[in-house]
Amino acid sequence: MVAAALKRFHGLLLCLAIAAPAWGQVERTEFRAMGTRIEIIVRDDDPAVRRAALDEARHRFERYGRDWYAWRDDSELARVNRALAGGRSAPASSALIELLHEARTLWCRSGGRFNPAIGGLVELWGFHRPPPYEGPLPDESAIEHWLASDPDPAGLQLGDAVVASDNPAVRLDLGAIAKGAVIDRALAAMRATGLEHAMINAGGDLAVIGRADGRPWRAAIRHPEAGLLATIELAPGEALFTSGDYERFREAEDGRRLGHVLDPRTGRPARGAIQVSVIADSGTRADAAATALLVASADKWPEVAASLEVVHVLRMSTAKGLQMDERLAARLERLDPSLATRLRPLPATPPRECR
Ligand code: AMP
Ligand code: MG
Repeated sequence: MVAAALKRFHGLLLCLAIAAPAWGQVERTEFRAMGTRIEIIVRDDDPAVRRAALDEARHRFERYGRDWYAWRDDSELARVNRALAGGRSAPASSALIELLHEARTLWCRSGGRFNPAIGGLVELWGFHRPPPYEGPLPDESAIEHWLASDPDPAGLQLGDAVVASDNPAVRLDLGAIAKGAVIDRALAAMRATGLEHAMINAGGDLAVIGRADGRPWRAAIRHPEAGLLATIELAPGEALFTSGDYERFREAEDGRRLGHVLDPRTGRPARGAIQVSVIADSGTRADAAATALLVASADKWPEVAASLEVVHVLRMSTAKGLQMDERLAARLERLDPSLATRLRPLPATPPRECR
């Protein structure tokens, strides 16, 4: 009898032993980079794979977080910007050139709402520095001058290892896309170590590969006035990015909120929406799209989303409240049903022709 009980007990142990590795061991790390808190969770049975993957990811955040930040004098991007401002070409790494190619395509597909050449305007509004944002608002004439100088990435010449521009007013600021791009690079580097399951969360913007355990990774979409708007299960390879006018802002004399996302067509803070969240199969595209759709107007945003090839968009504005594509609505959990307007599927218009 004892033997039979032991056999059952062993059988149970064996089941547990088989069950536990099936999901792999979880390891988590946290550090600060790109001005925010980065949390990485990996799952694998092999501690050497977990460690190598975490090291690779952290290395990408440290390297690209520094190289692609325009507002510290010793960064690669700042060096490129100084050369462009002086009408010179600048040597650049293949990693930066690849990102500039992606940024230029997304600029074109967004109809200019996402503009990586916006650095001069960001500086005029004082958003190149961390808060608090005090001091005078920019002069009308300075804004008009920036608009007239027409900085955009159309005239960027991207060679094998060199960047040039035919417009010295181009000042690259990759702040609206860099976090997504770094997450993509970090996940690719983690995969190369043999890791299959991970989540990277950079201050609420995140992307995943594989699954959490037996189930998909689960993410929270925040509410603009704090708290939780909804949760969602993310499929392997998906990224969730949010842009909002409440993240970093200054106040106009009448108390109006002037957010750090600027409309490159008016030279002024975007007035399209309060918050936009986007899910896409690339962090880079989700990041740029969230910014572009914060700029896009109430009537144009579905078309802009289609051009950027994103269907999972959640847009909150003062005029229209919470709007989303019905395919996203079907996936959300814990959303107050009285809150949202479901739109029929966003238009399936093909993306703009962009090189
Ligand atoms: P995000 O939080 O991803 O929406 O990015 C906002 C940051 O991108 C700002 O702090 C600026 O540095 C920069 N930025 C602001 N407006 C734009 C825009 N329309 N297109 C591209 N970058 C922008
Ligand atoms: Mg963005």
